[in-house]
Amino acid sequence: MMTHPKVWPKELSCELRDDLHSWCALWNVSTLVPEISVTISRRMTSSLGRASYTRQSIGLQHTLLDPTATELLREVLCHEAAHLAAYRLHGKTIRPHGSQWKSLLSAAGYPPRATIAAATLPACFGVRRARRVVKRRKVRRSPWKVITRWIRG
Ligand SMILES: [Zn+2]
Repeated sequence: MMTHPKVWPKELSCELRDDLHSWCALWNVSTLVPEISVTISRRMTSSLGRASYTRQSIGLQHTLLDPTATELLREVLCHEAAHLAAYRLHGKTIRPHGSQWKSLLSAAGYPPRATIAAATLPACFGVRRARRVVKRRKVRRSPWKVITRWIRG
């Protein structure tokens, strides 16, 4: 019998939860699943998702719940779950988007990308606003990073 995540939002599908199980089995960290708390954040605007190793938690930006963002939601969940898996497998000293994390994403069938170009995001993200922010702040990378912040400890 599969052990479900510690916290799983009702807004997310059972299929997605099955995907989380599959990825963790693939990565040989099935024991991680019942420790993971997944939450939807309405305040998260500068990143699509966030993973905390100390809390074993994954936060997802609420915009990902839009019906047009289903594929991206799956990728972001995989991206964040791979962070927790990489730390479980290799310890906390590895780089967040280093080779260990990349190989987990590749094994799950995703290109290991740490950022997503604003122009390729579904319309529900309001790309025009994102572009304006990019120009004003003169940042080279998109502000729609999949993850940037980590809770250290
Ligand atoms: Zn990341």
